[in-house]
Amino acid sequence: MKKIYFLLISITVTGKNFSQTPVQKFGFVNFSKVNITDNFWKPKIDKVATVTMKACIYQTEVKTPRVRNFEKVARNKGEKFEGIYYDDSDVYKALEAMAYALKTHPDSALEAKADEWIGKIAAAQLPDGYLDTYYTLTDITQRWTNLPYHEDYNAGHLIEAAVAYYNVTGKRTFLDVAIRLANHIDTTFRLANKQWFSGHEEIELALVKLYKATNNDRYLKLADWYLLQRGRGYYPYGANWITAGYWQDLKPVKLQTEISGHAVRAMYLYTGAADVASLTGDEGYMDAMKKVWEDVVYRNMYITGGIGSAGDNEGFSKDYDLPNEDAYCETCASVGMVLWNQRMCQLTGESKYSDVLERSLYNAALDGLSLSGDHFFYDNPLASNGQHQRREWFGTACCPANIARLVTSIGNYIYGKSNDGIWVNLFVGSNTDIKAGNTDVAVKMETSYPWDGKVKLNIDPEKKVKFVLHLRIPGWSKHQPVPGNLYSLLTDKDFIKTEVTINGKRFEYNPGDDYVIINREWEKGDVVEYTIPMEIFKLTAKPDLKSDNDRIALQRGPLVYCVEGADNNKEVWNLILPENTDFRTTDYKIMDEKVIALQAELPSVAADSEGKGIEIKKRKITAIPYYCWANRGANAMQVWLPVKIKEVKINYASRFEDGGNY
Ligand SMILES: [Zn+2]
Repeated sequence: MKKIYFLLISITVTGKNFSQTPVQKFGFVNFSKVNITDNFWKPKIDKVATVTMKACIYQTEVKTPRVRNFEKVARNKGEKFEGIYYDDSDVYKALEAMAYALKTHPDSALEAKADEWIGKIAAAQLPDGYLDTYYTLTDITQRWTNLPYHEDYNAGHLIEAAVAYYNVTGKRTFLDVAIRLANHIDTTFRLANKQWFSGHEEIELALVKLYKATNNDRYLKLADWYLLQRGRGYYPYGANWITAGYWQDLKPVKLQTEISGHAVRAMYLYTGAADVASLTGDEGYMDAMKKVWEDVVYRNMYITGGIGSAGDNEGFSKDYDLPNEDAYCETCASVGMVLWNQRMCQLTGESKYSDVLERSLYNAALDGLSLSGDHFFYDNPLASNGQHQRREWFGTACCPANIARLVTSIGNYIYGKSNDGIWVNLFVGSNTDIKAGNTDVAVKMETSYPWDGKVKLNIDPEKKVKFVLHLRIPGWSKHQPVPGNLYSLLTDKDFIKTEVTINGKRFEYNPGDDYVIINREWEKGDVVEYTIPMEIFKLTAKPDLKSDNDRIALQRGPLVYCVEGADNNKEVWNLILPENTDFRTTDYKIMDEKVIALQAELPSVAADSEGKGIEIKKRKITAIPYYCWANRGANAMQVWLPVKIKEVKINYASRFEDGGNY
């Protein structure tokens, strides 16, 4: 494959504003340029910057030995490593989230804490640039000998955090640590032509960030080198349960067509491959990723946008194997879906990728964080008997800081900029400044999304300027809830077209398009309003998806709903949802979260008064957004409700035999 490293025409040195490469359709506007003002994300960003960061710092520094391992290396007194060999990465990911939080919430105490940690990390770096507390404290002679031991995964998170901290604060100490480490890795492997691949992908996408921060193409080449090492049989399999598929090593990346193995590894790999492809124009990666993406979305994705159903490999099993109660569906994998789909959308300009991004973000990813901000889900099931609850922390603590860094950088996913104009991909009350040619354009979005589909865009260029405004039309609003037909709508009605007006005058567009495309001369005070119809959808799954046979799930806007015991007299496994049920919306509150709930009268199965048979009664049922469940103690929950009593009886009877108070 011919490879050309394009000159990056529009990239800024630090990548602070936006970066569109020649092969991308647009570049996303960086979160640091986007001011979030709405009632949905703003309070969440505030909570993460304060409560969640506090929890992450306490757990990382006080409650667990993660930061102490760095201190031990610096002391060099022969002290033992404590914890798990990948724990360094949690320190870095927390630092990355702290960097993003500092951008939106300047806080001198938080910055001092970050600087303190960075000092400890820098002091633990060896003279040749190596940095990994596990090997340094156990046996340094064994470094870079064991592929699965996450040294380059840790390095990747260090690099991501260092670039974020440099971009936000301008301080170089951490970035210089990252550069020394990346140089060490480049010298040890790529330049030495050593057989190796990353046992847990992550460094590929991180090296692209380092390349953008430094403009040194050595890091882009190293990222590409890492991608090229897969599928060459470098690791001896067969000794244990780990197979080549587990780490996406069955084939070279460019020949891959199917998703396999560990879900988070896969997401980071394809995000890195998309990043490299966006800079090198390598169509081999793009072709492969489009096929792999279809395999994920058409056959292996939960309705929540979560992926990786199996616990034993923390990843994919076989097609259509998506159990609800036993769903693994790791929070990190959903964060990875957001990252990967953002890249795919930039490369193709196709809104189906943003549709999936939005689904994963508002449902499976957001579910990872409690409304209080200090409890976390690692796995995110779609049904529960009340055995699932968010926890304060985990032995393997990848998820908390991952959801923290996603929420604090949510501004990364809203606006895009291309040579011809401005893109709106997510609907979040916010404002930003984007250049159209040489003209500054102030863009302000007002909306109560995801509760309401009305979106008002104020477009204020400093002087008259012609450009194209691309407004995403969500697939669900066109009755295409997901690309492919894994899930479809239970309706025979036509969709209601999203109405668009410019300065009060109706604007006609092709409703089949991915984006409303408005090409005109803009001037100060221009207002675009559009109203995305917020219907309540009943969805069914493809028959191959056995776990959801004869079941219905609910969705409104981008939000998937569930029924939880807390709102329904503790009983949700005995409900039937007939296909013709009409739901209505109601304003509702879960803790401090104001939401729109869905209500209907549903048949409910119970034991009769003599306890011998069953009887069916109708009762008022409230469904809440899935991301809000499990905030009010142990509760049963279901996303997919049965349409037939047969399904209920099976479940209900088994609960009864268990002595269950269902
Ligand atoms: Zn995780």
